Amino acid sequence: MAAGCSNSDKALEDRSMALTTLQNELMAELEAIRAAGRWRELRLAQAPPTVTFLHSGRRWVNFSSNDYLGLATHPRLIAAAQAATARWGTGATASRLICGTLALHADLEAALVNFKVGGRSGYRALLFNSGYHANLSLLTALADARDVVFSDALNHASLIDGCRLSRATVVVYRHNDVDDLRAKVAAHRQARRKLIVTDAVFSMDGDVARLSELLEVAEAAGAWVALDEAHATGVLGPGGRGLAATLAQDDRPLIAMGTLGKALGSFGAFVVAPSVVIELLINRARPFIFTTALPPAPAAAALEAVRMLTESDELTRALRANIVRMATALGFEPTWPTPIFPILFGTEQATLAAMQALDERGFYVVGIRPPTVPPGASRLRLTVTAAHTEAQIAAVADAIQSLPRPAPSQ
Ligand SMILES: *Cc1c(COP(=O)(O)O)cnc(C)c1O
Repeated sequence: MAAGCSNSDKALEDRSMALTTLQNELMAELEAIRAAGRWRELRLAQAPPTVTFLHSGRRWVNFSSNDYLGLATHPRLIAAAQAATARWGTGATASRLICGTLALHADLEAALVNFKVGGRSGYRALLFNSGYHANLSLLTALADARDVVFSDALNHASLIDGCRLSRATVVVYRHNDVDDLRAKVAAHRQARRKLIVTDAVFSMDGDVARLSELLEVAEAAGAWVALDEAHATGVLGPGGRGLAATLAQDDRPLIAMGTLGKALGSFGAFVVAPSVVIELLINRARPFIFTTALPPAPAAAALEAVRMLTESDELTRALRANIVRMATALGFEPTWPTPIFPILFGTEQATLAAMQALDERGFYVVGIRPPTVPPGASRLRLTVTAAHTEAQIAAVADAIQSLPRPAPSQ
């Protein structure tokens, strides 16, 4: 401050030059992204995105949401969130380990243990603020430089980032290829700990992990399977209990993670696992320890969603019926297992053109490009929910069938 006039002019000039250099660099980076057809921008929803999506003053039929059961705007979830806010306030006030563990969190964790493993003794659940946090937590708490993590080639970015952050040796196996996995596990016998991580439902491909075979490989090698049920929760298994739920009878080397922000219509995530795993997460997982606890409203909404799925399978059956309708209309196998339908176009440009053509016919189906998918694997990712009508499904399938398509759909 006390510097002389010429000095301060010089400092100002240096700073403005530095800013210009930074701006030029960033603009060049953005230009490269745009030139590659990978530009991303935010679309402002002017109403809650449901089976319709209102933006730029126009309403589209929405086939891009992960609100598979239509719960995000359900009156029961809204009422539960409102009541919890009235009773508990708007914020959890601190991290879970300070004073932010509310009785509401414990109720939701107990409900999740019931939902996922029938309340099996020796199992616990732990909430996280998002699936991203949960995956970073699991991988960094369970694995370090002495360990090997075997990761499916098409795993979600949050699992990939968790692998990187853990400092473990990461071995990528071919997508859903159990033989490749078995060979790779055999080549790493000496590792202290072996962890196989996989999406349960692959988020951009809609196919399902071969869990029982993965568990066989794990059991033979003394490894664990960490299963990401982000798109399986509320979707697969009896009453939407997920892929892991069908295996809950036996003590398998299985850790299940799921999210509350997709089919459960709320926000946040959970891990259900043997109690020792949960204790370790509480004691070691930095994305759990160093963050403010989940607020009351989303916790209560998720609890209400779990209650609804426990009471009745009406919604999960309605979703299943619409999956079959969409699969049939799009020419997928009628046994297609999930609400996610990948429609491959290959290049970014072809995908964007397809998205634009559907946009003009009143359908919002989002295009997925690298780095979310590998280069050359750009696609439309269409999702169907329990709330779509038969007519909406038929109409979008008709529009998709009429698109010029350089690659087959599966
Ligand atoms: C969406 C998603 C996540 C992240 O969950 P959030 O709660 O949205 O952070 C993790 N894994 C998979 C497979 C997902 O699709």
